[in-house]
Amino acid sequence: MHKTATCLCGAVTLDIAEAPDTTGACHCGMCRKWSGGIYLGLHVPAGGATITGAQNISAYTSSDWAERCFCATCGTNLFYRVTAPGPMQGDMHVGLGLLDDPSGISLTEEIFIDRKPDGYALAGDHKRMTEAETLAMFADIS
Ligand SMILES: [Zn+2]
Ligand SMILES: [Zn+2]
Repeated sequence: MHKTATCLCGAVTLDIAEAPDTTGACHCGMCRKWSGGIYLGLHVPAGGATITGAQNISAYTSSDWAERCFCATCGTNLFYRVTAPGPMQGDMHVGLGLLDDPSGISLTEEIFIDRKPDGYALAGDHKRMTEAETLAMFADIS
């Protein structure tokens, strides 16, 4: 489904022609700090988003394999992007909260569930993976 995503000030827009209808939550410590809360991302393959206002994007290299991009004007966290060479290079996880119309998207998984703060929980019967299970999954893909 077609979705558009914008930062708080509107300097950056992402046009996602074929956005997924599912989202996942990551409870790892980096996503928690980066988002300031619960990080919910939409997986968009490399080249799957047309970016307007890219000159307003700043990137923070958060690990050897990825960067976290934000609007330099308003500070909105835009997306996580894989930088390491390999089949996932360029893949993005765009923040669900950036969508102008976030309807029609289901939560289908939570990763790093054992890192989730104990003060809240996401309802529903979906896949939940621990840190060890999550890391094992990524090791299989890369
Ligand atoms: Zn902005
Ligand atoms: Zn994470």
